[in-house]
Amino acid sequence: MLDYVDLETDLDQEERLIRDTAREFVDEEVRPDIGEHFLDGTFPTDLIPEMGELGFYAPNLDGYGLPNVSERAYGLLMQELEAGDSGVRSMASVQGALVMYPIHAFGTADQKERWLPALGRGEAVGCFGLTEPEHGSDPSSMATTAERDGDGYRLSGSKTWITNAPIADVAVVWARDRSAEGSPVRGFLVETDRDGVTTQPIHEKLSLRASITGEISLSNAWVPEADVLDVEGMKGPLSCLTQARYGIAWGAVGAARDCFETAREYATEREQFGRPIGAFQLQQEKLAETATRITTAQLLAHRLADLKERGDLRPQQVSMAKRNNVRMAREESRRAREMLGGNGITADYPPMRHLANMETVYTYEGTHDIHSLILGEDLTGLSAFE
Ligand SMILES: Cc1cc2nc3c(=O)[nH]c(=O)nc-3n(C[C@H](O)[C@H](O)[C@H](O)COP(=O)(O)OP(=O)(O)OC[C@H]3O[C@@H](n4cnc5c(N)ncnc54)[C@H](O)[C@@H]3O)c2cc1C
Repeated sequence: MLDYVDLETDLDQEERLIRDTAREFVDEEVRPDIGEHFLDGTFPTDLIPEMGELGFYAPNLDGYGLPNVSERAYGLLMQELEAGDSGVRSMASVQGALVMYPIHAFGTADQKERWLPALGRGEAVGCFGLTEPEHGSDPSSMATTAERDGDGYRLSGSKTWITNAPIADVAVVWARDRSAEGSPVRGFLVETDRDGVTTQPIHEKLSLRASITGEISLSNAWVPEADVLDVEGMKGPLSCLTQARYGIAWGAVGAARDCFETAREYATEREQFGRPIGAFQLQQEKLAETATRITTAQLLAHRLADLKERGDLRPQQVSMAKRNNVRMAREESRRAREMLGGNGITADYPPMRHLANMETVYTYEGTHDIHSLILGEDLTGLSAFE
C-alpha cells in the first residue's frame, strides 16, 4: 500500500489495529460484491450491523459503549472504508458524524441513552436531513418549519438527497422554529414511522450507486419537545458537517489509493509492444504524479488529525482538506481509469466506480465551489456569500 513518506511508523498500536481491521473488513466483506451492488444500485445492508459490531460508527466519541479512539484512528478507518467504496464510507460517516455526533453534542441524557448505543451497534439507522429541493448550498434559507403545538412541534417541509432516508429509523431534521423569535434553526430527532413522515428513494443516480439516497416529506408531523436537540442556529448542522468533512478528507485518500494500487498492478502486468506498459515513461509519469498527490493529501489529513486531537482544528482547515483531497481523488481516479484502457470502464476494476462516486463526494458536504468561498473568506476577510 502506498505510504511513501512512512506515516505508518508514527501510528500507535490502536491506530494500526483499527486500520488493519477496516482493511480486512473491506477486503473480505466489501470488495467481493461491491461492483455488483454498484451496477444494481443497491447497498449491502447486511454490512450495517456488522460495521456496528466492529465499532465503525462514531468510534471517536466517548461513553454509551463508544470506544473514544484517536482522531487519527477515526480518519484511518474512513480511509480504509472509502478504499472499498464511497457508499460504505458514507454509511459510516452519516451514522457517526451526522447523526450520533449531534445527539452526543446536543442531546439530552434520555436522547443519548435511547439512540447512541443502538446507532453505535448498527441496530438502528440514522439519517441527516438538511438539504431541500430549493436549498442546497445555502441551507440557512431552508423552508422546512417547526411550529409549537402543545408539548411538541409540528414539522412541515421536504428534504432531499438524504443518505439512508428510506431505511432510517430516525432522521435528524433541521427546521426553522417559527414559534421562537427570529425563527432559529433547530434540530429534531424525527422517528420515521411518525404520522406525517414519508420517505421516497431516489433511484436514478449515476454516482454513489452503492448507497441508499432518498427524500423525506414532513406533513404536519408531530415531534415531542423531548426529541428536540439543545442547539439553536446554523452552528448545529454546520458543526456536524465539520465532523463529516474531516472524515471525507481522509476517505477520499483511500479511494485514490485504491485506484493507484489498481493502476500500478495493471501497469506491471499488462503488456503492449512486448513490454509491461509500466515500463513506458508516459505511464511512469502518471504513477509518479498520482503517488505524489496522494502523499500530499495524506500529509494534510494527518496534520488535521493532530489539530483535531488537541482541539485546535478550524472548520476552514477542514474545508481546505475536503476541497483538496476530493479534487485529488476525482482527478487521480480518472487517471487510473485511463491507465487501464478499455478494462478501466468496467465494474471489474474499481477506478471507474470510484471516479463516478467522486462526483457525489465533490458535491456533497459543501461543493468544491463552496469550500473555495469559505477559504476565500478566511484568507481575505471578505465574504462572497453576502
Ligand atoms: C448522493 C448524495 C447524497 C447526499 N446526502 C445528503 C445527506 O445525507 N444529507 C443532506 O442534507 N444532504 C445530502 N446531499 C446533498 C448535498 O449536500 C447537496 O447536493 C449539496 O450541498 C449541493 O446542493 P445542490 O445539489 O442543491 O446544488 P446547488 O446548491 O444548487 O449548486 C449548484 C451549483 O452551483 C454552485 N454554487 C452554489 N452557490 C454558489 C455560490 N455562492 N458561488 C458559486 N457557485 C455556487 C455549486 O457549487 C454547484 O456547482 C447529498 C447529495 C448527493 C448527490
